[in-house]
Amino acid sequence: MKSADRPQARLRHLVRPLAAAAAALALLASAAGAQAAATIVIVNQNAAGVGFNDATPAMPVGGNPGTTLGQQRLNAFQRAADIWGATLTSDVTIRIGASFVPLSCTASSAVLGSAGANEIWSDFPNAPRAATWYPAALASKLAGEDIATPGQPHIVARFNSRLGLAADCLPGVPFYLGLDRNFGSGIDLVTVLLHEFAHGLGFQTFTDEATGEEILDIPSIWDYYLVNNSNNRPWVESTPAERAATAVTWRGLSWNGPNVTAAVPQVLGPASNLNIGGPAAGAAGGNYGVGDASFGPALSNPPVRGQLMPVVDQADGSGYACTALNALNALAVRGNIALVDRGGGCDFTAKARNVQAAGALGLVVADNVPGDVSSLGGSDPGIAIPAVRVTQADGATIKAALQRRSRLQSGVVASLGLDETRYAGADAAGRILLYTPTIYAPGSSVSHYTTEARPNQLMEPSINLDLTHEVTPPRDLTFPLLRDIGW
Ligand SMILES: [Zn+2]
Repeated sequence: MKSADRPQARLRHLVRPLAAAAAALALLASAAGAQAAATIVIVNQNAAGVGFNDATPAMPVGGNPGTTLGQQRLNAFQRAADIWGATLTSDVTIRIGASFVPLSCTASSAVLGSAGANEIWSDFPNAPRAATWYPAALASKLAGEDIATPGQPHIVARFNSRLGLAADCLPGVPFYLGLDRNFGSGIDLVTVLLHEFAHGLGFQTFTDEATGEEILDIPSIWDYYLVNNSNNRPWVESTPAERAATAVTWRGLSWNGPNVTAAVPQVLGPASNLNIGGPAAGAAGGNYGVGDASFGPALSNPPVRGQLMPVVDQADGSGYACTALNALNALAVRGNIALVDRGGGCDFTAKARNVQAAGALGLVVADNVPGDVSSLGGSDPGIAIPAVRVTQADGATIKAALQRRSRLQSGVVASLGLDETRYAGADAAGRILLYTPTIYAPGSSVSHYTTEARPNQLMEPSINLDLTHEVTPPRDLTFPLLRDIGW
């Protein structure tokens, strides 16, 4: 499988809640007794014989004692519900209407699931802010009574029943139903559930990210904390056009909530950095944001430093390094940092292996299409040199400085290390960034953390392999955000 085309396992939150209710309920007496936990119950919405009721026999796996596929699915749901239940505080039992149903997928990509608030409420008893949408579970907690429409769950969650089980639905990549994170080549269902339940608890805006329009001209509680980091204006004070513009501005939106920002230094590590210097650097000199590789050593300080030398193996002067380097390229990269282009039909790991075999100290991959900073996927325990990815635009700037070089050196020095003054995935003020790709991604843009956070966070738009089942600091920033909105 090509690195640029790895199977895509996508997560979505419900783009719109199913019902919006602006209602003021009669305030019933509620002596909100302090309770250190919340009870979350799973409401099985599958019909007999399918989904949670699928009687296909299953061997117990990874601490999950269920003996049918349906039981195991339910046990995984209960584990995720218990983790959130031990973390949240609410006097009102949270009900999640859940089902396994066929969702869109192909041989190489699939929607894992989607979840969100089933209803949103404003101006309920004890609402902290007037004229503001809250998800049903949070509104009920704050009201001290269950304000959901009778018979309606607070959260709806649907998951792909065919994932990995059919040739046209990511074959060979099923949900892992064990509870111990020993997911192998599967997708850890408990992790996916923790993510999706968080959306339902309020990790989402109800404002339309594409148009910037609010539902019934009422902002979401989320929108008070979402700020345009170029002028510090929150979404709630912005026009629809301004909101829509920031939703597609890479690194343009930050979360300005006290609980999250206080936890950032505990959770996020220093930002990866490519510094370009040396006598021939010219206009290319300076620091570049880079995408990390999931293979090879993580960047560290002191940086790995060397002359930056391009691999050239194409008639147009570009270089893919998809095969063993010829003598001239090997001579150029030996003891130096290799610059290669994305593409050519091979994995990123193949490129890294080839320049490593030629003696390179590190690898910079320049993107071959316009876009935002992305990471380098793949795994290969044989790779011992650091690798990073830069945008096509940054690659072009850097290549311009390499035009006049000898066979052995360029006078352009690359340093691959950490910028200790910046947190990975945070803005200059130390606030975590939201996911705002330049090309709008329905269901993903705005209501996720940035893909640049390190360590990877639960609420990034895709599930990364290094996630744990933790939702709190020092590992994760999901619960601090829920605290910011009122949990
Ligand atoms: Zn999501």
